[in-house]
Amino acid sequence: LIASLASEEEQPCKTQDGVEISLLGNVGLPVEVDQIAEHHLAGIGLFRTEFLFIDSYTRPSFDLQLEVYGEMANQLAGLPMVIRTFDLGGEKLPPFLSLDRLRNRSSLHLRGLRFSLSEKNLLDAQLRAIVHIAQTADVRILFPMVIGSHDFSLAIEAVDRAVKQLDVLRRPPVGAMIETPAALFALDEILELADFVAIGTNDLTQYMLAADRDLSAGTDDCTAMHPAVLRAIKQIVQSSQQWSRPVCVCGEEAADADFARLLVGLGIRELSLGPIRAAATRRAIRGIDCCQVTQLAELALQCRSPAEVRQLLTASFGVAP
Ligand code: PEP
Ligand code: MG
Repeated sequence: LIASLASEEEQPCKTQDGVEISLLGNVGLPVEVDQIAEHHLAGIGLFRTEFLFIDSYTRPSFDLQLEVYGEMANQLAGLPMVIRTFDLGGEKLPPFLSLDRLRNRSSLHLRGLRFSLSEKNLLDAQLRAIVHIAQTADVRILFPMVIGSHDFSLAIEAVDRAVKQLDVLRRPPVGAMIETPAALFALDEILELADFVAIGTNDLTQYMLAADRDLSAGTDDCTAMHPAVLRAIKQIVQSSQQWSRPVCVCGEEAADADFARLLVGLGIRELSLGPIRAAATRRAIRGIDCCQVTQLAELALQCRSPAEVRQLLTASFGVAP
């Protein structure tokens, strides 16, 4: 059995009718980079860098970050690595920040990119380290919780500043996470500036459905299987196609086999998920016909509840094991 699982993981992630889906890994710690090759993934689609900050009593230095990102890039041996800048703020506050900040705890006070832009020195040091590594490796920068072109253009200016300060030639590709409802209404202005986008279904779902992603996890109150979220994903795919920008889904639900099939039907061709769950997703995708799931996705978009969407999927693929 182990031998057959291994050979299955080495198979290309292609639908029955030959549509290739790129499977990448979500990584939150440098040690997890080994899992990318182990599970035959195409690279890191989301490297969450919060671990460097969240428990630290000192600001992570440029040198430390250079070492961490550089070592990971070496281990990936040419595969791409999408590094997301620190997604802090709200309840996720590092101990080295001032007491003032710590008193202001609220999940929606300063979050994501808004927080990063308010901590200019911290962001600049991280960007310098990423840009430095990007001179010799396929490293890309992803900004969390982009609201629109205003905050995103300030983030891009910070990348340009890092390129200038380091006096290097290459500006790595810069992407925006689409995970706030505001970004859905600013897609064109974001896509005009972005080299790629990544859909964060964890936060997009929580903010669209007004349901806490941790407290309501695993319930129909907070699932990307909700037709409203599916319609949002469809819109992002269509707009990205119009702007010829790659789009990846990197929320955890991408690892749900039924949801992954539906994503392919919605036009998604890149998925980033927890590496250890990649085998099941690969198997699910290898079993589907892209034309068939495209028709199925059209029906799912017309459903009225997550339960109805699930029924539709169960009728086509049977009950998930
Ligand atoms: C998301 O919000 O879907 C996402 C991928 O980012 P995180 O889970 O780190 O917020
Ligand atoms: Mg998020």
